[in-house]
Amino acid sequence: MKLNVKKTGINGEGIAYFQRKPVFIDGCFPDETVECSLEDKGRYLKGKLIRILKKSPDRISCACLYQKECGGCALMPLKYQKQLQIKKELLKEALYKYAGYTEEIGDIVPGGDCLYYRNRSNLPVIEEDGTLVSAMYRSGSNHPIPIEQCPVHDIPVERMRLAILQILNTNHYSAYSQSEKKGIRQLVVRGFDTDYQAVIITGNDILDRKTIEELSHIRHLSSIYQGINIQKDPIRMMPEKLKRLYGKEKITVKLDKYELSLSPQAFFQLNRGQAERIYRDAVSFVPEGSNRVVEAYSGIGTISLYLSKKAKEVIGIELEKEAVKDAIENAERNGCRNLRFLCSDASRAIRKLLEKNNVNVLLVDPPRTGLDQELIETLLRSKIERLVYISCNPATLGKDLYQLQEKYRIQEIKGYDMFPNTPLVETLVCLDRRSKETGKGNGH
Ligand code: SAH
Repeated sequence: MKLNVKKTGINGEGIAYFQRKPVFIDGCFPDETVECSLEDKGRYLKGKLIRILKKSPDRISCACLYQKECGGCALMPLKYQKQLQIKKELLKEALYKYAGYTEEIGDIVPGGDCLYYRNRSNLPVIEEDGTLVSAMYRSGSNHPIPIEQCPVHDIPVERMRLAILQILNTNHYSAYSQSEKKGIRQLVVRGFDTDYQAVIITGNDILDRKTIEELSHIRHLSSIYQGINIQKDPIRMMPEKLKRLYGKEKITVKLDKYELSLSPQAFFQLNRGQAERIYRDAVSFVPEGSNRVVEAYSGIGTISLYLSKKAKEVIGIELEKEAVKDAIENAERNGCRNLRFLCSDASRAIRKLLEKNNVNVLLVDPPRTGLDQELIETLLRSKIERLVYISCNPATLGKDLYQLQEKYRIQEIKGYDMFPNTPLVETLVCLDRRSKETGKGNGH
């Protein structure tokens, strides 16, 4: 079947139409004419690309050998300007579809370098011809693809990943076997500047002294942990408890004028430069001299540090225990005395806080699932004057905004490219409590 691709879907796939139904086709872009086979799935069709008959003028040669198989960087074969344009369309569409938002949005803030931006590599380890190699699973598949290099990873992270694998190979380690519950399972490397940390996730193995000694000589690798995970299909590969094999407990990450300690279990934004930009902009929405500001989903307390000067009191809320410990340490390390952190589920903690306290501004930076229903209802009932929402998922953002608009008016929406080459969009939204007016506004 010959089809014209009209737009890009949320996973970076091409979308064409056949008999008024959408056809989702991986590996092609708007303005392309493709030949594909079709599989009817009911309300939509899945197209399998056979060949591209007319190429998009925005195609460029691709920086990665595995781009097609891996699927992570679906937009990589496009000029960067075109990627940004697609991301803007994806954001606009999600805001319209889920929140009925019809106003224009500005251009997506570009993400700096398109390659080498990821400060963390987190890849499964498999054996290929008796040698340990990193691999990737294409989303929705359990067939691993060996990956020698990933060009969106930071260069030292890549160098360390390869050096660790080489040492494990020369010391004859095997890949994880579920039946034996032994072997190397996953390798996580994260770091900044000259301070890097590795977590080797294994079965019930003991890494011998000689191996650890060799690993400790890798330049700038200042912290090495082992994590044991023998679950069959774990939802989360990083175990709660880790064993420190060598070096420092935590690494340091610098952001603007702040220095932060980071534990292996704690979340940290993958693109530091772009995270800085979003944090600065998010904080600019918090009025100078605020009395009490709450940051929910606060991780290691980064945004709270930025907020410290703007408010009398800042309260961070975070579920991950190690991240909360980091946050407390970070407040002290940076001399911010008006910060307090609670280790709790965000919606529970906010509900309790509001029973006794007045909160002027709430900043939320939730995971991809967005805000839960209980939290939204608490916010609708609250008197919080301003909400600042950082989102990594336009669909859940749109759904949350739809409900929040009942009591809050959207003041500003700004999109950021945190992950060049992927279809992902990060969004910052500022909302103000409606005074007396009713209705949802903005398209309702
Ligand atoms: N604002 C931080 C972290 C954002 S990532 C930063 O920019 O670095 C989202 C964070 O929410 C993670 O640290 C995760 O551990 C935390 N989290 C996930 N579910 C949560 C919940 N129900 N309540 C509180 N925190 C939660």
